[in-house]
Amino acid sequence: MAEHENENEYEHVRVAVVGSGFAGLGAAVRLRREGITDFVVLERAGSVGGTWRDNSYPGCACDVPSHLYSFSFAPNPDWPRSFSGQEHIRAYLEHVTDVFELRPHIRFDSEVKRMVWDGERLRWEIETSSGRLSADVVVSATGPLSEPKLPDVPGLDTFPGKVFHSARWDHDYELRGKRVAMVGTGASAIQIVPSIQPLVSRLTLFQRTPAWVLPRVDRAISGAERALHRALPFTSRLRRGLLWGVRELQVQAFTKHPGELGFVEQLAKRNMGRAVKDPALRAKLTPDYRIGCKRILLSSTYYPALAQPNVEVVASGLSEVRGSTVVGADGTEAEVDAIVFGTGFHVTDMPIAERVVGAEGKTLAETWAGGMQALRGASAAGFPNWMTIIGPNTGLGNSSMILMIESQLNYLADYLRQLDVLGGRVALDARPGAVSAWNHRVQERMKRTVWNTGGCTSWYMDASGRNTTIWPGTTTEFRRATRQVDLAEYAVLRASAGGKEAARQENAEVTA
Ligand SMILES: Cc1cc2nc3c(=O)[nH]c(=O)nc-3n(C[C@H](O)[C@H](O)[C@H](O)COP(=O)(O)OP(=O)(O)OC[C@H]3O[C@@H](n4cnc5c(N)ncnc54)[C@H](O)[C@@H]3O)c2cc1C
Repeated sequence: MAEHENENEYEHVRVAVVGSGFAGLGAAVRLRREGITDFVVLERAGSVGGTWRDNSYPGCACDVPSHLYSFSFAPNPDWPRSFSGQEHIRAYLEHVTDVFELRPHIRFDSEVKRMVWDGERLRWEIETSSGRLSADVVVSATGPLSEPKLPDVPGLDTFPGKVFHSARWDHDYELRGKRVAMVGTGASAIQIVPSIQPLVSRLTLFQRTPAWVLPRVDRAISGAERALHRALPFTSRLRRGLLWGVRELQVQAFTKHPGELGFVEQLAKRNMGRAVKDPALRAKLTPDYRIGCKRILLSSTYYPALAQPNVEVVASGLSEVRGSTVVGADGTEAEVDAIVFGTGFHVTDMPIAERVVGAEGKTLAETWAGGMQALRGASAAGFPNWMTIIGPNTGLGNSSMILMIESQLNYLADYLRQLDVLGGRVALDARPGAVSAWNHRVQERMKRTVWNTGGCTSWYMDASGRNTTIWPGTTTEFRRATRQVDLAEYAVLRASAGGKEAARQENAEVTA
């Protein structure tokens, strides 16, 4: 594989990574460890961090303990709390960027606008907001939760007050003493509500569906513990291993035996009962679906905040805005100064897919019109040498996404090794049969899971009701499935000598 080619008027690299969150930075570290230095990281923002740069709302923190929610190759003995806050996770990612000397590779303020596969030269032509380049391989690490989703609320454009999304918090806006409407009761909202309730004069919470909320056992990690982790690094690995093992054991209940989750609902009800004494409010806050169907939320401060006299829970979505009055679907009205949307992200309609044009001239979004699917969560048929990190069906309901990212990085490293072994100008294109066989297996396993049977509507599901978000197994199973590339699942494309058209080397088609 040529490291640099100057046939274009613009730059060519071996690998272009898109995004500098956990996945993009992890990919960059992995490339360097594989001895690959001919790569760039394209980032639309002005700094690294992804999720942990964009989400700076009051109370923002991870809901997986920090010793597990971090890279295995970059342990941090100094995590200050069991569930660290956004600023510490962001600082950690800045630190990783420096320690692994990634900055020279990163192009900030470079939003990828379009990526087009050139089937003659076997390379991706990439257009960014800061210029053009081409790459042999693209690693798309644009994040599953990076594009805020705002509901289309009639009259919102006439609202005279302040409006923002949880992932675009306006820190210049003073909430103290204001009347605030919070829309949504997901993972971000339940962190925001207790953080702003003591400040605002009135908080109106629009809740379409109540969440199951378990207590959050968060505490400061003592100086002695940190010193121990620094002096004896295996203690930090042991801690991580225990955190991982407990979560791994829980998976069966989510994927195979949702009936066993009933006792967890009792724990959640007790958590609510301790703080919420008003039976009418308790009724509003009690979910009617199996716990785990939507993400289980962790908070010891959410219910106490909702029980305060300056909070009103409206058990319906926001349906309309009339001037400065917000109106719920149940007819409840409240006059407010600000509306905060905790309404999540574009997940099942991965936004980058509209910007990627594959071998047949179709965008990935068009290819995925019937729902996202990718071989081992990474490769889509007709999009050679294009790999996504945290692609379809790689999400987790109960553990750290960093485990999944690192599994996909193993797959990426082997993919690049395979290209080297094949030699010359070469590309790998996932076979349609292999993609659908993988997807079929995933969807078959999905049928029994709590996400599909628990009786809820969640953001894990796409418009057709298919769960294209969650991995229906353990992280160990995913690690095994992504340990190496099975070449039988790919067609090998070679540039012909004349450079006119790539030849497809037909291996045996894999069976479903
Ligand atoms: C508030 C919040 C809390 C969370 N808490 C947890 C948790 O506790 N545990 C857990 O496992 N997961 C959690 N998650 C999920 C979290 O998103 C993942 O764990 C992880 O951070 C994803 O990393 P990523 O690199 O894939 O994506 P991101 O961190 O979203 O990074 C994607 C990057 O790509 C860039 N980008 C996007 N499009 C383009 C483009 N066209 N051109 C150039 N750059 C582009 C973005 O600017 C961004 O920097 C949380 C998510 C949110 C929103």
